[in-house]
Amino acid sequence: LAGEFSRRQQTLSKSLNAFIAVADEQSLTEAAERAARDTPNKPLSDTFVAVKDNICTSDFPTTCASRGLTGYRSPYDATVVSRIRAAGGVIAGKTNLDEFGMGSHSLHSAFGPVQTESGHSAGGSSGGSAVAVATDQCHVALGTDTGGSVRLPAAFNSILGFKPSYGLVSRWGVVAYANSLDTVGFFAKDSAKMKDAFSESNGHDALDPTSLTSATRKRLDTVLASRSERSKLRFGIPEECIIQELSGPVRDAWKSTLLALQKAGHEIALVSLPSLPHALSAYYILAPAEASSNLAKYDGVRYGQQAPDSPHLGPLYARTRQHGFGTEVRRRILLGAYSLSANAIDNYFMQAQRVRRLLKQDFDSLFRLPNVLSNAKNEERDSGTIDVILMPTSATLPPKIDLVKEQAPLDAFATDVFTVPASLAGLPALSVPIADQIGLQVIGQYGDDHNVLNIGEVVA
Ligand code: GLN
Repeated sequence: LAGEFSRRQQTLSKSLNAFIAVADEQSLTEAAERAARDTPNKPLSDTFVAVKDNICTSDFPTTCASRGLTGYRSPYDATVVSRIRAAGGVIAGKTNLDEFGMGSHSLHSAFGPVQTESGHSAGGSSGGSAVAVATDQCHVALGTDTGGSVRLPAAFNSILGFKPSYGLVSRWGVVAYANSLDTVGFFAKDSAKMKDAFSESNGHDALDPTSLTSATRKRLDTVLASRSERSKLRFGIPEECIIQELSGPVRDAWKSTLLALQKAGHEIALVSLPSLPHALSAYYILAPAEASSNLAKYDGVRYGQQAPDSPHLGPLYARTRQHGFGTEVRRRILLGAYSLSANAIDNYFMQAQRVRRLLKQDFDSLFRLPNVLSNAKNEERDSGTIDVILMPTSATLPPKIDLVKEQAPLDAFATDVFTVPASLAGLPALSVPIADQIGLQVIGQYGDDHNVLNIGEVVA
């Protein structure tokens, strides 16, 4: 198996550019033998897992597709990578991405764009991971999803892409883009593999201060266990997603999936998420604001490659960052620094936080399951009636790469309109392929991840 994957990676590396680093055939074979010896008969035994290159691994460089981190090698594995290895998985290489996870088409990489066989956008920012799975260069791939970076590429490459609830999978060793939104996510073709990869990765980690505590996990289990089982589901369709920009093929695929579900006896209900139309603007305030702070450490002194010939600290910072960061990353840093500045913070950052809070309330009011994280006493809450929400992953089919290159940056932002809501609310969201290059999201209540994955099989 190792030889097969390795040869496929070599053959496709030039045309698709899905990987930044791979092991040669012999090293991959050795890694597979080691895994078989040290961790036999585990859920992920014989499973080859590619890792997005903003997740630290000790046996490959970790570059975030940034010039500034070229050659950087982490001394340790991210917790999620350790857990994948402990479950028998073999790390099959590091995948290409938009620099630091910022982008929707995987074109902003210091290592060149990710390509697809069709010439369409691979989606982003985890485009390399999606293409690696779609073209059978591995079984499973890890990505990160801050505002859609797992779900969008999954939809564009017609595979499964899952963003778990925020806080379930550790972010220790995952390079921060916007830490209140960053979530490790998974790609697979096979639903059973996806479930195993997620289950093995899910668990409290004391090294990540935002990791869900064991006490809350227990409370969650109790809430989940007390839910009455129902064979027929009630799906919520947000009316705010029925927009003019929805392309014909996406609308048709969505409609026929709903009809099929209805025919199978499930209920379809039109619901409302009044704050949804503001989610995209809120996301593009909050994510760059956090990014501008998170990326401050790449100054050439504490982190990253140092620009040569700068005797003074000011010019050293400036030259290092000018040289190290690509245009999109610099744009985000400027946007974020601006929205956090004294004159702008009330109008931008604070408003965006409010939208985020309202959106969470919108979601909470719909689900049958209460949100274990919300302060409102569950008895006082008018319980919703919806099991999960169904909405498209993208409003359109993937554009041709040549077309994207001519787009204005704001057009790329707009690609994320349907993925950012679940990110802002921290909810589990699975993109299920329902037609060629079209994905439908199954979005569940916080912590209802296993149910979302199961319902994905019903929807597919
Ligand atoms: N496209 C979005 C952005 O550029 C989402 C990226 C992500 O989820 N990492 O911010």
